[in-house]
Amino acid sequence: MKWKLVRECGSWDRGRWQWKLIWRRPLLGRELIWEQALLHEISLVQLHEGVPDGWIWLPNTDGLFSVQSAYLFLQESDLPEADPVFISVWTSFAPSNVKGFAWRVLLDRIACRENLLKRRVIASISDASCVFCNSHLESSFHVLFSCPFSMQIWQGCFQWLGCSLFQSNTIREHFFQFRFGTNKLQQRLSHSIWLAAIWSLWLVRNDIFFRGGTAAIEVVLESIKRRSWQWNKANMRGFSYSSSDWFLNPHLCIVGS
Ligand SMILES: [Zn+2]
Repeated sequence: MKWKLVRECGSWDRGRWQWKLIWRRPLLGRELIWEQALLHEISLVQLHEGVPDGWIWLPNTDGLFSVQSAYLFLQESDLPEADPVFISVWTSFAPSNVKGFAWRVLLDRIACRENLLKRRVIASISDASCVFCNSHLESSFHVLFSCPFSMQIWQGCFQWLGCSLFQSNTIREHFFQFRFGTNKLQQRLSHSIWLAAIWSLWLVRNDIFFRGGTAAIEVVLESIKRRSWQWNKANMRGFSYSSSDWFLNPHLCIVGS
């Protein structure tokens, strides 16, 4: 792939660009996931047959950059960085790759099958069903939140936390259910659980998809508890609770921090 031009990495098929990525060797496990994510990202760019490549500055109608247009663009744009949900994800105790994944979940930019179908990375709707229930189109909201399997995981999380799970219609609402305690630090500890849950669900989804693995509720719940404790322990100074404290009563560890 190194030094290749775009025109060498695919071809036109009846007016539509089809990516054909060629690698030095066959891709393995995690690399296949990266390839899917890459295909998803690049498929968002619309190519036009016969049009030469060039740079366009979108905020200006003539396509040319000016400082004034950049200034106006920054003033007017609704940048996700300023949104409280993105700030909460960014300041959480999760590792940066997990924060990046959570951002893509919130922006509906993960390589779930519905998005791959929309971008024509997969061709048929029959290949786009959820790996957990096999009976629903795999959208990001479905696979991570509303699939019966994922719902059981979230119910398990709330049971572990000693609270009730409310029905959320958006990912943002779902995220903000994880705000236990009264101060920002306590809320950051709670956010780790939400991030560990979406990450653990996504990893098990990939394990089924790419390696024919199986989904077991207890195993996923265990990994959520373990990951959230590890992230909090590693990144919050003064977090003194042991893994058994956390496994036994996370709510107490959060409000006691
Ligand atoms: Zn499902």
